[in-house]
Amino acid sequence: MKLSTLGEFGLIEKIRKISALKSSRAAVGIGDDAAALKLSPHSTLLATTDMLIEGVHFDLSYTDFHSLGWKSAAVNISDVAAMGGVPRFALTSLAIPPDASVEGIAEFYRGFKALSKKYDVELVGGDTCSSRKGFIVSVTVLGEVEKSMTVTRSGARTGDRIFVTGTLGDSAAGLELLKKRAQGAKSSIRNAKSAIAKLVKKHLKPVPRVEWGRKLALSGIASAMIDVSDGLSSDLGHICDQSGVGAEIHGDSIPLSNAIRSARDFLRRPLIDYALSGGEDYELLFTAPPDKLKKLLSLGIKVSEIGRITQVRHMHLANRTGGKTLLKMSGFDHFSGSGGARRRRILS
Ligand code: ADP
Ligand code: MG
Repeated sequence: MKLSTLGEFGLIEKIRKISALKSSRAAVGIGDDAAALKLSPHSTLLATTDMLIEGVHFDLSYTDFHSLGWKSAAVNISDVAAMGGVPRFALTSLAIPPDASVEGIAEFYRGFKALSKKYDVELVGGDTCSSRKGFIVSVTVLGEVEKSMTVTRSGARTGDRIFVTGTLGDSAAGLELLKKRAQGAKSSIRNAKSAIAKLVKKHLKPVPRVEWGRKLALSGIASAMIDVSDGLSSDLGHICDQSGVGAEIHGDSIPLSNAIRSARDFLRRPLIDYALSGGEDYELLFTAPPDKLKKLLSLGIKVSEIGRITQVRHMHLANRTGGKTLLKMSGFDHFSGSGGARRRRILS
């Protein structure tokens, strides 16, 4: 069978089935933002790893090494945040091509440290080797969470409301603008400079929502949570799949930033597309039962309610006039198979 038929998430499911043990010691294994492993009766170790490949995830013609280091820390720390945990330690592995400079690699680690030190995450190891062509970066982050406070993708229940922190679509819009700039910025684009700079920054230097993830976990408000890495439609799809439910979201309620609105004229697609299938926002998408709404508002988190969890196991997008369309998982899939986007990801 071709990988494109199975898709990235189908492949992960196959790996999970092959590797499954009769009795697992993991509280949460393959299938969530991070594995949750019991260390003591009260404490759980969170472990997550992500790879960034030159030519697939990043392009050095419009990404600097400082941003690359920052981002490779951010994407992993974000997975710990999505479990409601505290990130603690990191390991980095690099495969370095023959033409690389020491200064570039030093900048990578300065960027990595600039983001990690915000969360007190310490680099404690890794691996270094050569690559024939292109950089490969693999980062592992370890964190911890109280056993009873771990928030997984599987806890959403019918009637729960769906929320997202911050705004969505900025990163994907920033990437599109970054690519345009790399091809030679047009004078008209320069006019919207500050909006565009904000979107590009959101793409290159995302800030994971660690404090908010923590608040949502400790308050017991979030029934399920995931970070938005592949795009709202895909990441909500993961919550629905794992929880055995469906969802209805309202297009008008999806939070869009002033920056993306100001840059509208320079973007190719309708703004909602960037939110639904763009990805890399690293905001938190979570569900909460209706009786927790008051408590949620008291947490001081920038949050928008975008829909509700339904019993029917489909996702729908509702519009202003009450019309509904079926929402497919249109976010990023490395093998662009069923349900996945058919584009290649050249991010930062
Ligand atoms: P995220 O976007 O939150 O980083 P992924 O979609 O990369 O999550 O991964 C989903 C789940 O599948 C995670 O639990 C991850 O650890 C697991 N996973 C992904 N690839 C593999 C693999 N090759 N072997 C084992 N587990 C994997
Ligand atoms: Mg994640």
